[in-house]
Amino acid sequence: MERTSDVIVVGAGIVGSVLAYLLAHSGRSVRMLDRGLSGGEASGARAGLLTTVAEGSGKGPYLDLSVQGLAEMRTIIQQLEEETGIDCWLECHPLYRIATNEQERDMMFALYQERRQLGGQEEWLEPEQVRREQPLLSPRVTGAMRSPQEYHVTPGLLLKAVLQAARQRGVLVQENTAVTAFLTEGQRVIGVAAGMEHYYAEHVILANGAWSPELLKLVGIDLPVTPLRGQMLVVSLAGFALPCLINTARGYLVPKKDGRIVVGATQEHAGFAKEITVAGITHLLKVLSAVPALVQARIHDTFVGLRPMSSDGMPLIGPLPGWEGLHVATGHAQHGILLSGITGRMMTAYLNGEDPGELWRHFQVQRVLTCKAETEV
Ligand SMILES: Cc1cc2nc3c(=O)[nH]c(=O)nc-3n(C[C@H](O)[C@H](O)[C@H](O)COP(=O)(O)OP(=O)(O)OC[C@H]3O[C@@H](n4cnc5c(N)ncnc54)[C@H](O)[C@@H]3O)c2cc1C
Repeated sequence: MERTSDVIVVGAGIVGSVLAYLLAHSGRSVRMLDRGLSGGEASGARAGLLTTVAEGSGKGPYLDLSVQGLAEMRTIIQQLEEETGIDCWLECHPLYRIATNEQERDMMFALYQERRQLGGQEEWLEPEQVRREQPLLSPRVTGAMRSPQEYHVTPGLLLKAVLQAARQRGVLVQENTAVTAFLTEGQRVIGVAAGMEHYYAEHVILANGAWSPELLKLVGIDLPVTPLRGQMLVVSLAGFALPCLINTARGYLVPKKDGRIVVGATQEHAGFAKEITVAGITHLLKVLSAVPALVQARIHDTFVGLRPMSSDGMPLIGPLPGWEGLHVATGHAQHGILLSGITGRMMTAYLNGEDPGELWRHFQVQRVLTCKAETEV
């Protein structure tokens, strides 16, 4: 078996898969290894929001990255749909970011003003206007910020499309293959080992989410990325269609094309315990109470995933200082679906010797890194 490629991508979540696809699209030969099934971790437990306002995407470079990320994802999804014939359920709805007490109202109103100053299209609605526009919302609403159109996608379909398109472009996808070590020559990484198997490449990119620090310890790098647990519910109610996206201070409701509604998500520091908990479900039921009719809804499914969260909450995209040929694309926390396209685009440009764009420098790894002097492999 030929075990040499231009690039090895470690991790077949959404970040690794989109990156592998874009690299292959640019003409590079790519091998992608995952220790489980592709999409089997955080990328398999997600709502698919592609919005720059839900869950507060901050401002400055992070907001700029989110805005570029949305444009990139819309282009990539269209391209994937054309190449594979798979409909990813990219949809657009108005988003109501609702407050249910005075404190939340003050926070929401401040956010609304900030968004307007940044040129956003959001509107502020008083409680009676909210009730008129969306009578299905709880009468406890004390105000809302309405965003006229926000996008979302169905990540399971997106992953299916991106993996198929990647394979069509020659990406070798190897599941159930855990990377256990790096192959090195001096300070250059020349490949990876997966048990007894050795794979060689000019570049190795770690896109293995919350598990990136585990591998980087092997080369003396202490990457500050930790798991941020998210739990989610999927519900539906016969004869009921949610006409909008809803965001509360605790979470969100996202309507899907098949009538199901995704209720997400908790944000918990619980280590690597990938568990659905009573506290998590209780939290999600409070989110769901934004639409009182849904108390009668049927629960279809529950999901839990571990988001990769960096120490400053922003993604880490680029080369790892001290090593040639070793790169990382992780730390996307709550926005890995939204940011997978722009991340893949930047990394692809960088590896191909092109300009990754001005924004890229804000997401370099150096800013959070403490490198040990000695390295062992
Ligand atoms: C409940 C929930 C809701 C979310 N909702 C949204 C949303 O609406 N919009 C949005 O943009 N984002 C959302 N996110 C965040 C998003 O899902 C993550 O940011 C994203 O999935 C991270 O993708 P990833 O590819 O970096 O990591 P992962 O999907 O975790 O993939 C990492 C992969 O690496 C593999 N791996 C680990 N170690 C090794 C190894 N040693 N060798 C080989 N493979 C290895 C794992 O098996 C895994 O498949 C949500 C997350 C959760 C949990």
